[in-house]
Amino acid sequence: MQHRIVVLGAGYTGAVAAGRLAKRLHREDVAITLVNPEPDFVERVRLHQLAAGQDLVPRPFSEMFAGTGVELKLAKVTAVDVDRRTVTVSIVGGPAREELEYDTLVYALGSGWNDEGVPGTGEHAHEISSRPGALRLRERLAALDTGRPVVVVGGGLTGLEAATEIAETRPDLDVALAARGALGDWLSEKGRAHLRKVVDELGIRVHEHTAVTAVEADGVTADDGTTIPAEVTVWTTGFAVHPIAQATTLELTDRGQIVVDSTMRSVSHPDVYAVGDAAMATGPNDKPLRMSCASGVPMAWQAADAIAARLTDTKVPSVTIRYFQQCISLGRKEGLIQFVTADDRAKDSALTGRVAALYKELICKGAAWGVANPTAGMPSRRRRTVRQETRSRAGVEATAA
Ligand SMILES: Cc1cc2nc3c(=O)[nH]c(=O)nc-3n(C[C@H](O)[C@H](O)[C@H](O)COP(=O)(O)OP(=O)(O)OC[C@H]3O[C@@H](n4cnc5c(N)ncnc54)[C@H](O)[C@@H]3O)c2cc1C
Repeated sequence: MQHRIVVLGAGYTGAVAAGRLAKRLHREDVAITLVNPEPDFVERVRLHQLAAGQDLVPRPFSEMFAGTGVELKLAKVTAVDVDRRTVTVSIVGGPAREELEYDTLVYALGSGWNDEGVPGTGEHAHEISSRPGALRLRERLAALDTGRPVVVVGGGLTGLEAATEIAETRPDLDVALAARGALGDWLSEKGRAHLRKVVDELGIRVHEHTAVTAVEADGVTADDGTTIPAEVTVWTTGFAVHPIAQATTLELTDRGQIVVDSTMRSVSHPDVYAVGDAAMATGPNDKPLRMSCASGVPMAWQAADAIAARLTDTKVPSVTIRYFQQCISLGRKEGLIQFVTADDRAKDSALTGRVAALYKELICKGAAWGVANPTAGMPSRRRRTVRQETRSRAGVEATAA
C-alpha cells in the first residue's frame, strides 16, 4: 500500500516539491503524481525574453524526472474536492476526464496575469505570465513595422523587464512604459539612478504616476485623461491566482491564495499543502511572501521536507524564508541586483551594469537547474521509510470498514 501524493502544477514550485519528495522517500512507499498540462518545464522568469523573440532551451519533464519515480500526468486540473480528497482533471489531447484520489495534496498551480478588471484588457492587451501569452505577443511584435508604438503597463519587476527587453531587441519600435508611481520608487537611490539611465539609453518613454483605466485597440487611457498611443499593449500590473481553490472549502485570503502555516500546510485542511504563487505564507516580520521564485522555491523545499518528516515520524524542519536580493534584467546587456532586507525592503547597495546582467543570468540558470536537482546543496539525508499507518489512508479506511 502506497501513500498517494498528488502535486498540482509543474512550475518552479510544484516540480521542485515533487522531485524533492521523490528523493526523500522510498519509492515503494509513495506514489507521486505530478499534474501539468505541458510536457516541458516553462521557465516563467524568462517569458519576456521569449516574447521579445529569443528562443528558450527546451526542458522536457521526461528528462528531468527520468528514473525518479515521479509520474507526470499531462492534464489540466478542473476541480479539487478537499473534503473527498479528489482532484478532477481533463487529460490533454483527449476528451477523457479522470478523478485522482490523494492522501496528501500539494497545490502549486501558480498564477496568471491580473487585468484588474480594467476595460479593454481582455480584448486588446497582451500578457506574458504564461507561455501561450508570451508566444502570442512574440508573433504580434514580429509583425510590427518600424516606428510603431508599444506600451508596457506596469512599472513593477515584470514591466521593467518586459519594456527593456523589447526596447533592446527592437530599437526600431517606439516603446513606452506606464507606471502607477515614480520609476523604480521602491529601489535604492543607486538602483533608481541606474534604472533611469538604462531606460533613457534604450529610448523608452516613461509615463510616471499614470494609472491606466482603459485599453483600446490603438492605445491606453490614464485616469487623468492622458492617452498613450499603442499598437501593442503589454499588461504587467501583477499576478492573480487561478479560481480553482476558490471553489473549495480551503481557507483562502481575499486574493484567493491558500492560507498556509510555516510548514506550507493548509491551516484548514491538514492533508493539503500549498506553495508558490498559489499560497499565502508569511516571512520575516510576519509580512506575506511576495509572488516570486525567490520565495516560492524555498516554500517548495519546506513543504516537501515537512511532508516527508510527517510521513516518516521524524522531526519536521522549519526554516524562515527570507529575501536577499531582487534580480532585474534590463535587456541582455544590462541588469540591476537590488540587495534587500530579509523582509524585502531595498538596502543602499545594488549591483549594476553588465556584471548584474550576468548575475541575473546565473540566477535564472540556477533556478532551472534547481528544478532538476531539488536536493542539491542540502545536507544529504537518507530516504526514509513511511510509517505503515500513513501509507494510504484509503487503505486504512477500507480495512476499518
Ligand atoms: C516575465 C516574468 C518574469 C519573472 N521574473 C522573476 C524573477 O526574476 N524572480 C522571481 O523570483 N520571480 C519572477 N517571476 C515570478 C515567478 O515566475 C513566479 O512567482 C513563479 O513562477 C511562481 O512559481 P509557481 O510554481 O507558483 O507557479 P508557475 O511557475 O506559474 O507554475 C504553475 C504551474 O501550474 C500549471 N498549471 C496552471 N493551471 C493549471 C491547471 N488548471 N492544471 C494543471 N496545471 C496547471 C502551469 O502550467 C505551471 O506549470 C517572473 C514572472 C514573469 C511572468
